Amino acid sequence: MEECSPFNDNTIMHDVNCIFCKIATGIIPAEKVYENDEVLAFLDNTPVNKGHTLVIPKSHTTNIFTITREDLSAVMEAVRILAPRVKAATNAGGVNVIMNNDAPAGQVVFHSHTHIIPRFENDGFRHWHGGTYGEGEMGAIGAMIRAQN
Ligand code: AMP
Ligand code: ZN
Repeated sequence: MEECSPFNDNTIMHDVNCIFCKIATGIIPAEKVYENDEVLAFLDNTPVNKGHTLVIPKSHTTNIFTITREDLSAVMEAVRILAPRVKAATNAGGVNVIMNNDAPAGQVVFHSHTHIIPRFENDGFRHWHGGTYGEGEMGAIGAMIRAQN
């Protein structure tokens, strides 16, 4: 990790081997759609649907387990601003906002990022299946999560 000159009071850290850090520093190109001191948004180059946008903090963290409160807030504020813009620009019927965290959850690029995916009726992108709980299982799992603090 290397420290880059911050644009403001935040210290921006980059991982020299990270593809999204290379986009954030302009080493490799991207189709940028929004930028401020903390975040950058650009088009996913392998989109679910055209206009699929990625929002990243400029400072390198891997995912939800390491991102700072400040960077997550800045990313979500950018998502709030961009979601209607992506929807309007693509004439989509809706959007999904998704963050994949760690490999079993589908994360491939290990720089925190949030997807804004324009959605259309019958576009083939599958929603999750609805599972079921056995007798007492929901309460037991709820208790296990509440105990994790
Ligand atoms: P995830 O599975 O959540 O880690 O998603 C990573 C996303 O990054 C994928 O949807 C890729 O298509 C996208 N991606 C990887 N490299 C690039 C790149 N150079 N420019 C734009 N999007 C990229
Ligand atoms: Zn990075």
